[in-house]
Amino acid sequence: MSYDNDNIFAKILRGEIPCEKLFEDDDTFVFMDIMPRADGHCLVIPKTPCRNMLDASPEQLTACLLTVQKMGHAVMAAFDAEGVTVQQFNETAGGQEVFHLHYHVLPRHADLKLRPPGTMADFGVLKEQADKIRAALA
Ligand code: AMP
Repeated sequence: MSYDNDNIFAKILRGEIPCEKLFEDDDTFVFMDIMPRADGHCLVIPKTPCRNMLDASPEQLTACLLTVQKMGHAVMAAFDAEGVTVQQFNETAGGQEVFHLHYHVLPRHADLKLRPPGTMADFGVLKEQADKIRAALA
């Protein structure tokens, strides 16, 4: 399977479609998931192309996981969470829908289940939540 330059996350990286950006460094980019399964649900992606974990380089995997850890701390602080769930899907059979490597980072509370997938966020609420995470990162 080859990388599709027109996948939606490639377009976000090129600035062709908007996103609620939280963080970037030389190698990774982080933004809010528009169909959040928990308040503060965000996505960590490499800036360079790869479909998923299966074709990613050691450098892409390392950079993403370091940013995942950073974002785990930030979302836990922002939402006073007790834990964090990290999800990553590979190919259609593995549950992947967007074919640019990404890690879901979800702050968790012991008594709160993840919401079902597929409900679009209110963009005002998403921005408020992003502001909290950006403040935790500052
Ligand atoms: P998956 O490939 O199964 O990990 O799912 C892709 C994820 O990307 C889902 O959680 C979607 O809600 C999210 N998503 C899709 N399009 C966008 C977008 N334009 N901005 C932010 N998140 C998105």
